[in-house]
Amino acid sequence: MVNSSSNVNPFETAKKQVDIVADILGLEGGMREVLKHPKRELTVNFPVRMDDGDYKVFTGYRVQYNMARGPCKGGIRYHPQVSLDEVRALAAWMTWKCAVVNIPYGGAKGGVICDPKHMSKTELEHLTRRYASEISGIIGPEMDIPAPDVYTDGQTMAWIMDTYSMLKGYSVPGVVTGKPISLGGSEGRGEATGRGCAYTIREAAKDAGVRVKNGTVAVQGFGNAGSVCANLLNDEQGAKIVAASDSKGGIYKADGFNPHAVEEYKAKNGSVVGFPGAKAISNEELLELKVDILVPAALENQLGAKNADKVQAKLIGEAANGPTLPEADKIFFEKKITVLPDILANAGGVTVSYFEWAQDIQGYFWPLAEVNQRLERVMVQSYNDVHKIAVERKVHNRTAAYVLAIQRVVDAIKIRGIYP
Ligand code: NAD
Repeated sequence: MVNSSSNVNPFETAKKQVDIVADILGLEGGMREVLKHPKRELTVNFPVRMDDGDYKVFTGYRVQYNMARGPCKGGIRYHPQVSLDEVRALAAWMTWKCAVVNIPYGGAKGGVICDPKHMSKTELEHLTRRYASEISGIIGPEMDIPAPDVYTDGQTMAWIMDTYSMLKGYSVPGVVTGKPISLGGSEGRGEATGRGCAYTIREAAKDAGVRVKNGTVAVQGFGNAGSVCANLLNDEQGAKIVAASDSKGGIYKADGFNPHAVEEYKAKNGSVVGFPGAKAISNEELLELKVDILVPAALENQLGAKNADKVQAKLIGEAANGPTLPEADKIFFEKKITVLPDILANAGGVTVSYFEWAQDIQGYFWPLAEVNQRLERVMVQSYNDVHKIAVERKVHNRTAAYVLAIQRVVDAIKIRGIYP
């Protein structure tokens, strides 16, 4: 939902979403205000020693949106366009995402304004460690647990875990998730988003009468989330993957291709483009293919007024964050296209992050099969919770997911009461 391609302020969008759901739930003014304000925001300006020996000052943020349901959870993003309002919006969306899947977390997000593509590994390590120490007072396994996001990864998390542990004087693996397995990461975390998305597609397809076995699937963005989802729809549910794409373009093959072979081809050649036996298509064409299932797994703002009425898929599983604009949602609802909203469909990632934290604080690790089984249970339950509200209130799944999430947060705020 971060609108990078226009001037829409993502936090204004996030607040409007709260108002829409507050109207549906009949929430009073004071509660609306609580839901539209981040609880805590920290801005840090800090120097980093660069490779040329000089210092450079960077600005970073950590926003803890709401912790009524538990410690805050959310990624850290490194990007030149990071802004406080973007971080606020992302923190709000994390709050709702954790509530949809009913994991005992509030939402947070962090970001540092920087251009990691033009920084060396040493500079990134210096930046990460200094940022981690600047925000160390407000993070921790019981308070706020960061994770990777855009241009941060397992290595970044390992540096944060080490920095925080150095400050404490003992190892604290539960301070971040998305860590390498050797540091207390969880089995199955790498696959969790795509896997969770495949589970919700399976469940929604049953209710919507969409065929998955021998059904056709197009995946926009054959990266981590997209390729895992494609592999599982193919391997476990018998679907035919007929189209895939990445930033360089797309491929199409009417009788389907082996997604594992496409993944290997992309790993070797840097793109799916040129995959033997497939026809080249553009990303725009991919979104409008006559398929049973469309999985947007790349960027935000892909489906809007300009193309929504040309979409022919019967079911859309949003592996990406924010691929659908509100005007497209309306069209899909009218056309009876089932949409699995991002805060539900891609919540498998944060769910296994929660499992990682739970394993870390117990010091007891689960085998992969157990992680996947527990993930399946959470995703199936969450889909059913959302679907029930959608049917009862005659709204689309996105509104239903927000209603479910915000109601859960409101319940926690109310039962705790307002201090003092
Ligand atoms: P990734 O970098 O592994 O994959 C992204 C893919 O999208 C790449 O193949 C890239 O080439 C492609 N892409 C980039 N620009 C494109 C364009 N203009 N058109 C088509 N394809 C394009 O990233 P990922 O982790 O798979 O994340 C993908 C989406 O899923 C993002 O929106 C992310 O926020 C969301 N998501 C990911 C996770 C996770 O755990 N990985 C969790 C929740 C949400």
